[in-house]
Amino acid sequence: MRSTGLYIDGRWVRADEEFTSYDPADGTSLAVCASASVADVDAAVSAARGAFASWSATPGSARGALLWKLADLIEANAEELALLETRDQGQPLPISRNVSVAGAAAHFRYYAGWADKLTGAVNSVAFPNTLQFDRRVPVGVCALIAPWNFPLMIMAWKLAPALACGNTTVLKPAEQTSLTTVRLVELCVEAGFPAGVVNLVTGGPETGAALVKHPGVDKVSFTGSTEVGRSILTASVADLKRVTLELGGKTPVIVAREADIDAAVAGTVMGGLLNSGQVCAAYARVYVDSQRRDEFATKLAKAVSALKLGPGVEDTTDLGPLVTSEHRDRVDGFVRGAVDAGASLLAGGSAVDGPGNFYRPTVFCDVKDDMEIAREEVFGPVLAVLDYDNEDELLFRVNDSPYGLGASVWSEDVRSAHRLADGIRSGAVFVNMPCIPDAAAPWGGFRSSGYGREMGPYALEAYTEVKGTWIHHGPKG
Ligand code: NAD
Repeated sequence: MRSTGLYIDGRWVRADEEFTSYDPADGTSLAVCASASVADVDAAVSAARGAFASWSATPGSARGALLWKLADLIEANAEELALLETRDQGQPLPISRNVSVAGAAAHFRYYAGWADKLTGAVNSVAFPNTLQFDRRVPVGVCALIAPWNFPLMIMAWKLAPALACGNTTVLKPAEQTSLTTVRLVELCVEAGFPAGVVNLVTGGPETGAALVKHPGVDKVSFTGSTEVGRSILTASVADLKRVTLELGGKTPVIVAREADIDAAVAGTVMGGLLNSGQVCAAYARVYVDSQRRDEFATKLAKAVSALKLGPGVEDTTDLGPLVTSEHRDRVDGFVRGAVDAGASLLAGGSAVDGPGNFYRPTVFCDVKDDMEIAREEVFGPVLAVLDYDNEDELLFRVNDSPYGLGASVWSEDVRSAHRLADGIRSGAVFVNMPCIPDAAAPWGGFRSSGYGREMGPYALEAYTEVKGTWIHHGPKG
């Protein structure tokens, strides 16, 4: 069985403790991974601190060239990475190829282009005989903590802008899915990043907590649950670390009276069930105009019932397993709760017996706003259909959520589409398409969905500080 180490200051090292990573499709052990202790975390942070002066002074064009090379290496090893992601996380191969691996490479290329374009401004200050300019400088040592749903791609969302801006890094993947991050770090070594610029500590919540607490860390970029996000914010207060938080969601979808129902159904299957619904912006609560509700719900239930569950490595698979058996049981708890609360089950509603953490895609109808299934993040293949009659009331209901990450509107009428999109309070609204992030556009949440933005030029703000310089040259003569 594969055994993976920590990467600290340009060397692969072992840890005193280890943990096992499992294939969620059949429960077999895939690898034994090093579990970083507090001392290992300390060594990784020291290495990142030691490398900072030289890396931050490296010309942007040279940093960009390394990022570009890393993207090339990801593409050259795409099939191996995709297979590893599928085995470790469970997602079907077309998703790991076309979303995870392609998305990771796209982020490194996008930020390679930014590395030599970090500019500032010359400001006309009132102080006489003085040149004043500002520029963006790197924050310092960045702790990058990722969840298990898109391990490689989400780490790339963080690592690419952090390195482009001249920061040094300590990576902490989720304990359920560390393997593609280990491989990514191997590719960073092959690309030629200097020792100490990219460090890796694998391990569980204690490893993450030690990193967040460490006084040598200047910034934490975290993607994960809202609950852990809150604890990170609390831990960052002592030394006022910079923090970016990409947290949970409960994505609302509006299917308007003027919607193309077949397109909305196809979009809801994709938007709600990609990666078995283990997506932060997965469609979760679908508000359908009451005149179209029965048609929509019937077609949706039929479409999801036709999906084939199976191991992600099989060509015929539409939906892979959930990441762990604990998570499958948690999803099932939400489903049982919805049935008990009186929601009508139109499809799915149970786990599949046998090996692997498979859960049937599930559709509920007659869902009420105050039901748990309409309010809490399930993070699984479960869709709740609600109905509406009045647009103003609808927008109040849609916005009455602690979350505000993604949202979608389906309508063929540009006026209703725009009106509804404008009224939704969330980080992004997608019209006639599922919620799909892109390296070039901002990604992040309102309210309990997080702080700050990743992607696009906005991530450059997240990984830099603005520094002003004042030069008083005095009057001539
Ligand atoms: P999680 O919060 O349990 O864990 C995320 C990471 O944090 C893991 O690496 C974990 O080891 C680490 N961690 C756990 N406790 C910690 C602590 N006290 N201090 C520091 N690190 C700690 O989340 P998860 O279950 O892996 O992921 C699912 C969640 O992630 C969902 O809520 C989902 O919505 C969210 N998510 C959000 C986005 C986004 O872009 N907003 C994207 C993907 C996932």
